[in-house]
Amino acid sequence: MALEKMEFKTEVKQLLDLMIHSLYSHKEVFLRELISNASDAIDRAHYESLTNPDILENDTGWKIRITPDKEKGTLTVSDNGIGMTREEIIEALGTIAHSGTKEFLSLLQSKDIKDNPELIGQFGVGFYSSFMVADKVTVISRRAGKKDRIGVKWESTGDGTFTVEDVEKEGKGTDVILHLTEEGKKYLEAWEIRSIVKKYSDFISHPIVMEVEREKESELKKGEKYKVKEEETINSMKAIWLKEKSSITEEEYGEFYKHISHDPLKPAHVIHYRAEGTSEFIALLYIPQKAPINILYRDYKMGPMLYVKRVQIMEHCEELLPPYLRFVKGVVDSSDLPLNISREMLQHNREIETIKKNITKKILDTLSEMKRDNYEKYLEFYKEFGRILKEGIHYDLLRKETIADLLLFASTKVEEGQFRTFADYVKDMKEGQHSIYYITGNSREEALKSPYLEAFKKKDYEVLIFLDEIDEFLFGGLFEYKGKMLKSVVKGELDIDLEKAAEKEKSRKKYEKLLDFIRDTLKDEVKDVRLSGRLIDSPCCLVADEDGLDPQMEKILKAMGQKVPENKRILEINPDHPILKEMQGLFEEGKRDGDILEYIRLLYDQALILEGSRPKDPALFSKTITKLMVENLTRRPSERMG
Ligand code: ADP
Repeated sequence: MALEKMEFKTEVKQLLDLMIHSLYSHKEVFLRELISNASDAIDRAHYESLTNPDILENDTGWKIRITPDKEKGTLTVSDNGIGMTREEIIEALGTIAHSGTKEFLSLLQSKDIKDNPELIGQFGVGFYSSFMVADKVTVISRRAGKKDRIGVKWESTGDGTFTVEDVEKEGKGTDVILHLTEEGKKYLEAWEIRSIVKKYSDFISHPIVMEVEREKESELKKGEKYKVKEEETINSMKAIWLKEKSSITEEEYGEFYKHISHDPLKPAHVIHYRAEGTSEFIALLYIPQKAPINILYRDYKMGPMLYVKRVQIMEHCEELLPPYLRFVKGVVDSSDLPLNISREMLQHNREIETIKKNITKKILDTLSEMKRDNYEKYLEFYKEFGRILKEGIHYDLLRKETIADLLLFASTKVEEGQFRTFADYVKDMKEGQHSIYYITGNSREEALKSPYLEAFKKKDYEVLIFLDEIDEFLFGGLFEYKGKMLKSVVKGELDIDLEKAAEKEKSRKKYEKLLDFIRDTLKDEVKDVRLSGRLIDSPCCLVADEDGLDPQMEKILKAMGQKVPENKRILEINPDHPILKEMQGLFEEGKRDGDILEYIRLLYDQALILEGSRPKDPALFSKTITKLMVENLTRRPSERMG
């Protein structure tokens, strides 16, 4: 195919523009990025070759080669990895914005990166960082295992367009050729290259080689020296997870994290340990600071990298972690698994199961230590990942209680921004209290005003406030914590005040007929009408059946477009409220229509408003209220209510 000229995608253009005009002083990171890409390409080729030996093309000496050419002013980074086809190179280096790009550009919008060039270094800015040191970049690549040996040449000066054309290429893999700017020429010095590789890429598990000139002494003529060119490996290749913990610096852990995660931020926490005994493996796991944007979507690839005896088997081994810990990144290197393990075999492998159990426990233990010893840090973690962690309550029955102990809740007993745990709650339960009570709400403020809390306030019982939609899903079932049932304050009959039970029984008898009448009047709206044990000041409220849906939940499901079964609620009336006594008066006078019917409707409408719903007929509601106001206002002052 002939030469094609194409335009970069808008995001890529923006990124390139930024790179070219960047005042960032550590431009050397371009080499880290190119080496990282080369290493990934080799890992992919290696993995594919396990099932398709044609990929190898008789060349198994995996290598990343750096070639400085002072005469031409070029620096080339080559690999014999997987390579790219014409289509792949167009996508990868031109039309698709890559992992870091979006985050990078969004940060650019929020803070002005041009004034803070140092920020660039925090990001895995990828291939395009080449344009910080080069005014033209040529990439020649050939997909491994391709029979016709035709490769592709990609070229750009970073001006918004790039070209691609077919070319012959001897070996598989990719050469990235940087035509360095005047300022960039310093990266042609061997010592400079060596020191950058040491700093950023020492742990890369494939040899990074460079040809160096050495003086040798002649064996024939003593004292005579001559120059030879030799290939030298300039990285130690020591996999970081194999090193002693004490010998690894925070920066090294950070560099490796950047390499595997493409996350621009530093990791929030590192877990590095060696398991011995029934299962032998090393795990180096990272808890990120921020959740990647796609963590809630299906295309999110979870799971640490799996190595077997230092050979990378796959990039994301999802069998190694439960989904509720999918935010954890890292590496697991096993000594027990067979090298030829395939995806299918992973699913029922006992060794994998053992590792999964072990690292799940380790992560949960680490989180609970963090919560105990470094609460501030835990809070940061929880804000970001608490929602995902909670899924474990539902999916991991074995560790339900361990996970429950990691959860934090707003509560009627603590200020905004402070949280309580189930354990805190249970420790401070009042005498005679048997259940853990919760209320759901859109905000803490709204929940606190709820009439459903009146009786709890009076008894000084704590109520947890669930602000997260998922909470009701998770705990709405039969959840119990250390033998204490979790109960919604808006569901079921509430009898937290046992002394009042006898009194209530008396009231029930007294108002029996009136309640029957109200029940009959509202038979199309509510399932039942009864006296309430949860109200102090408010006249009435609506509650769900013990096994019914929480109204909050009903709204969420409806908003999600789900069909929600018609769920009638129970109207509870405060037996101590004067309104009931007054209505009883009217009722005893034999009134069965007019005012009394209007009052019953109003009572019900108010209850709807209090639970956060709308009256069925807002116009009628407003009309009735206005009518009552006028009646009250036109009475002589001495007769006025209130
Ligand atoms: P990232 O590595 O974060 O995905 P880059 O901009 O560095 O972003 O690279 C974009 C894509 O180009 C890579 O995802 C990969 O598909 C491809 N690529 C880059 N360098 C190489 C290489 N040496 N060999 C094969 N593919 C490469």
